[in-house]
Amino acid sequence: MELDFFPSPYPDEHLYGIVGRYHQRAGNTSSKKTSLELFDAGGMCVSVSNIYNLDSLCNKLSQDSLLTADYLIKKHTLLPLYSTFMSAEDVADRIKGICKIVKPIPRTTWDFLRQKTGNNRFLMHCPECIAEDKTIYGESYWHRSHQIHGLDVCNKHGEWLLQSNVLTAFEERQFDYTLPENAVFSPHFGARDVRLKKHIQSLAKSANWLLTYTEKPIHISKVLGKYYKRLSELGYSKNFGFVKEQMLLNDIEKFCISKGSKMIPPDINMYGENQWLLSILKGTRYFNSPINHLLFMHFLEISCGEVVLDPEEYAYPIGRGWPCFNPLVDAAVNWKNA
Ligand SMILES: [Zn+2]
Repeated sequence: MELDFFPSPYPDEHLYGIVGRYHQRAGNTSSKKTSLELFDAGGMCVSVSNIYNLDSLCNKLSQDSLLTADYLIKKHTLLPLYSTFMSAEDVADRIKGICKIVKPIPRTTWDFLRQKTGNNRFLMHCPECIAEDKTIYGESYWHRSHQIHGLDVCNKHGEWLLQSNVLTAFEERQFDYTLPENAVFSPHFGARDVRLKKHIQSLAKSANWLLTYTEKPIHISKVLGKYYKRLSELGYSKNFGFVKEQMLLNDIEKFCISKGSKMIPPDINMYGENQWLLSILKGTRYFNSPINHLLFMHFLEISCGEVVLDPEEYAYPIGRGWPCFNPLVDAAVNWKNA
């Protein structure tokens, strides 16, 4: 049945917030009722960490609505950031998981990403954005760009984000569609280092660039091609061959310290010591946190725009084997070619 109304999304608003505004304006006292009205399901279908059955919502919108599943995913979820660092096939699978509901519920994008990249437990907000939104729109709303794990500085205002008491995921059968005006916020308890704040803002700006880029999709193979070209230019590898791993790690550590932290982002070692770097460089097989990629791009001084707009294509050498990290193999190849 067609809905009587559905709120028009605000810029950078997370889908969870749009559903929350519907919930409030419909006067629903239970979130279960809202889920049934929008998604024909009694559970939570939209949180920051999980989205299911989006097609059901879109089928209930008026026929001339511009809010298609594709539009909502691109403009109002975090998938455009994650998809840059995934293969096209993986992205297609994740979109299927978002649009449909299948029983038993599969591990969809957000479950998968939460396990691989970590996740904020509570929604975040920027104090200046709250004030600005109220001035412009008469209310504040949940921004998707504030919900990226590890980036707890507003990309626009450079303020540490506030932590709310609103859960980002379904927990212990508890869920609610809560708006910022009904949330309780706590100040940021993290480091107060000004250099670190500036650095995280800079990473957050890159993340926002990828979130808002809507032209030709970028996927991990193109990003990897750019990494290897830059590693070669900087003397860390040659001809897609031996990567000077220890030298690279030492220099990344120096780079992080110069930016105010030895450990940026906090989950940098999530695969064990140094494994994050190996998994980034073998990226088509191993999904890595966008934050780790952004950090690596900043270290290599590659802008997101360069990856996208570079006229040259640096195809990752799929079919020629994975890059080799073993100096003995590299030496053997050199010996053979001598
Ligand atoms: Zn802000």
